This record gives sequence, C-alpha cells and structure tokens, in this order.
Amino acid sequence: MDSLYNLKVIHYENGRYKVFSSDKLDSYYLVDLLYNQGNGECACPDFRINCWPMLRRTNNPQGYYIKTKKGVVINKLRTRCKHVEAARIYFLEEIINKIKNKV
Ligand SMILES: [Zn+2]
Repeated sequence: MDSLYNLKVIHYENGRYKVFSSDKLDSYYLVDLLYNQGNGECACPDFRINCWPMLRRTNNPQGYYIKTKKGVVINKLRTRCKHVEAARIYFLEEIINKIKNKV
C-alpha cells in the first residue's frame, strides 16, 4: 500500500504545496488545501478521476485511508488523494511546530 510518508512535501505559497512522489523526485503535483471549501484539490489523475467526482456527488469530504476490521485500506469513497492528505499532514506539522512552545 502507498504510504503518505513516502511523499516529499514542500510549502509553495499560502495553502499550496508541491507534493513529490518518492520514485519521481523530478516531478510533483501542486496541491491547494483551501480549494473546494477546504477539501483540497490536486492535479493528479486520482483526484481528477475519483476524488473530484465523489466530492461533487456526496459533498462529504473523506480521506485517503479508512479503517476497517481488516486494517487500514484505501478509501473507495475518498474525496482526497494521497497528495492532498500528505499536504494536510505537513500543514498540521507546520502549525504544531509554530505553536508548541507558546502553550
Ligand atoms: Zn493527488
């Protein structure tokens, strides 16, 4: 299974991140976390073919993975691709690092 942690994320500009695949460090997808009312958006085929239509159909943002009785699997109802999820994790770590010494 793909791991979000194999992806390299670089902050690009407000709310936007470049997400590189672990096996193709010369190419990346541009992710905007604020698009689609905070669901996020990515230029990758998975987002265009699976995630965006699911978001339009359900208007219910869902992540890349889902927990089942058999373990963690890729969510068939996902509205976020692995690149959006990786950027969200990166964003969260940025925020935590900024505020951790202020509480
Ligand atoms: Zn993507």
